[in-house]
Amino acid sequence: MNKNLIAGSWVEGSTTVADVNPSDLSDTIGDFAMADGDQTQDAIAAAREAAASWRDGGIQQRADILDRIGNEILARKEELGTLLSREEGKTLAEGIGETARAGQVFKFFAGEALRIPGTSIDSVRPGVAAEVTREPVGVVGIITPWNFPIAIPAWKIAPALAYGNTVVFKPAALVPATAQALAQIINGAGLPAGVFNLVTGAGSEVGEAIVTSPQVDAVSFTGSVATGRAVLVNTAARQAKVQLEMGGKNPLVVLDDADLETAVECAINGAFFSTGQRCTASSRLIVTENIHDRFVARLVERMEALVVDNALKPETQMGPVVDQGQLGQDLEYVDIGRAEGANIVTGGGRVERDADGYYMAPTLFTETDNAMRINREEIFGPIASVIRVRDYDEALSVANDTDFGLSSGICTTSLKHASHFKRYSAAGMVMVNLPTAGVDYHVPFGGRKSSSFGPREQGPAAVEFYTSTKTAYVYA
Ligand code: NAD
Repeated sequence: MNKNLIAGSWVEGSTTVADVNPSDLSDTIGDFAMADGDQTQDAIAAAREAAASWRDGGIQQRADILDRIGNEILARKEELGTLLSREEGKTLAEGIGETARAGQVFKFFAGEALRIPGTSIDSVRPGVAAEVTREPVGVVGIITPWNFPIAIPAWKIAPALAYGNTVVFKPAALVPATAQALAQIINGAGLPAGVFNLVTGAGSEVGEAIVTSPQVDAVSFTGSVATGRAVLVNTAARQAKVQLEMGGKNPLVVLDDADLETAVECAINGAFFSTGQRCTASSRLIVTENIHDRFVARLVERMEALVVDNALKPETQMGPVVDQGQLGQDLEYVDIGRAEGANIVTGGGRVERDADGYYMAPTLFTETDNAMRINREEIFGPIASVIRVRDYDEALSVANDTDFGLSSGICTTSLKHASHFKRYSAAGMVMVNLPTAGVDYHVPFGGRKSSSFGPREQGPAAVEFYTSTKTAYVYA
């Protein structure tokens, strides 16, 4: 069908975008409709029109519909996950796992729709009652990146609908097929026309139209820091509610007393799974000196054994980079690191496979310091740096010396150091003996500093962004 969904109808775009498989450039998934600014306004108007009846339609209706969406995603996780892997390039296991997670997110928020919190409390004035309730915000604009084509849309769309809002969803133009499949499932679950709208398109046109529209009450954005800050300026100017999840430069600290295999597996998973294209990726490996050489030797051995190939082959452990632009950026950072004096111990370039795709070898820099650009800027590819430090205190200080603050991790067998790190790491999420990536859907997700802005996503914390608090006083 390959169209956008506006006011309950599937509509052609003004142009189309070719959706190409990054594992095999000869494989085009399809040509997908790109909406323009006018169509975006139509979608916003439809969401506005549908807002009152959806808000007043009752929580049972919302719960039933969200549960249906979750069930269908779970029932079709292999098919949808395969489409996702074909389009984005993460491995089949990752694509199917991400899809299952999206299904679970919808089911979680089906339950949350029935548990919208509120309080009734005595007023300080005798005879008066105070009631604090949560109301829908109204029309929510949802703008997402390409790297989690179904999970991120799910963890924004599901709470938006659960708490009684209507939605205008703009996915990244690199992953239109997964967005389309998700929209078909959502639309087929019995939502009234206009409650959920899909407008695939360019950020500069469709994204900006959403962000600047006075008819959009709240914008939930995930993407890069630069785009997020532009979204912030546009929403702040008109006092719209905004939530931003952005980049990371996440540290994984490895102490001398760490279990070597645990630490290496955390680094492999955190830095290279999903081809390193995760906001929570472990891009800075901060390693104390007595374990440094053993850690690097074993990590290199494991990296060189990783099967980098077509995402759709079951044995593949790391798929391609998502597109030519991202691959170019990754290779440029390899040159930057080299010029800064870092040592490449393994990887550093493209690799050829049977099909023509954007394959890159997992890459490790050593002899780096935290001031280098490769340790300060988000690369967003299969590249990690090792930073050698003397002891735990230096490790903590280097870990926190960054503009970002999304996720962090420590590998240690010391309760003292683990507890201290949990408390003093300047990140929104802290992992002990676990990779920096990989989070649950029923607890808050989000970071600090440049990584995030506004209320947390996921779990019961999502109620904060997707509702507006009302306090009522009653004297009867
Ligand atoms: P991006 O910032 O280029 O794009 C994100 C979305 O914003 C896309 O849908 C894009 O079309 C849209 N957009 C672009 N310009 C816009 C504008 N002017 N106004 C409104 N919308 C606009 O990011 P990307 O390359 O798609 O994704 C990679 C980035 O996302 C990385 O920085 C990564 O760290 C980040 N990310 C963060 C999280 C998180 O939860 N913190 C999760 C995943 C990805």
